[in-house]
Amino acid sequence: MGVVYDVQGYAVHDGPGIRTAVFLKGCPLRCWWCHNPESQRPEPERDARGDWIGEDTDAASLVGRVARDLPFFTASGGGVTFTGGEPTAQLPFLLEALDRARAAGLHTALETCGAFGSRWLAPLAARVDLFLFDLKHVDADAHRRGTGVGNRRILANLTWLLRELAPGRVTPRVPVIPGFNADPASRRAIAGFLRDRGYRGPVHLMPYHGLARDKYARVGRAQDFRAAPALTAADRLAIAADLDGGGLSPVWGGA
Ligand code: SF4
Repeated sequence: MGVVYDVQGYAVHDGPGIRTAVFLKGCPLRCWWCHNPESQRPEPERDARGDWIGEDTDAASLVGRVARDLPFFTASGGGVTFTGGEPTAQLPFLLEALDRARAAGLHTALETCGAFGSRWLAPLAARVDLFLFDLKHVDADAHRRGTGVGNRRILANLTWLLRELAPGRVTPRVPVIPGFNADPASRRAIAGFLRDRGYRGPVHLMPYHGLARDKYARVGRAQDFRAAPALTAADRLAIAADLDGGGLSPVWGGA
């Protein structure tokens, strides 16, 4: 059993083609800009209106429900994407769901913050067709200030995946957050990290937005909401320029 808080069909920003995004609850990070605060706690919880966020779900019925759209996935090159929260916070459930998805003929993607034990790299790599791997900051202190945890394990996991997996199976995703990593030095360091590890390909840039305010209120954490300045068109151009070239191609919003 796992705790799932949303299943969204026809997702087009969570991997190739038409996909179903499965949102698992629980995350070891506490990013101050988090757009999904309702995902952070591992257990089902009630919102301010008393409605439940998250429910216990078994992997067989979850994948059975997703697999009903197999014809759409096949026609579009899509599949299922496990996201959250941080899906690896529920590893036994995630592995079973991935196995069942593969057995049902689904292309599998995993959106991850990368904060999981290295012993899980090989089991995940055997089951995940595409990793959408968050790369938030390469500086350990900045990462800890922004997310509450250091980045040593995250960077090591990303390095392993980039080294061991064929090109095209890992796509880095950078949440672009003013006041955290949108400055020139931070974004150039991210680009350098990827190039140094031989990565060549798209880099998804996920822009900060301040629309989550209502979500924080919904889970009784209005005091935790922190706003940042919106990214201007000029910001976007400058940021993309720093992550362009040398084999990298920035893509705003993912795909
Ligand atoms: S890793 Fe993602 S889900 Fe977890 S706290 Fe950060 S932004 Fe939120």
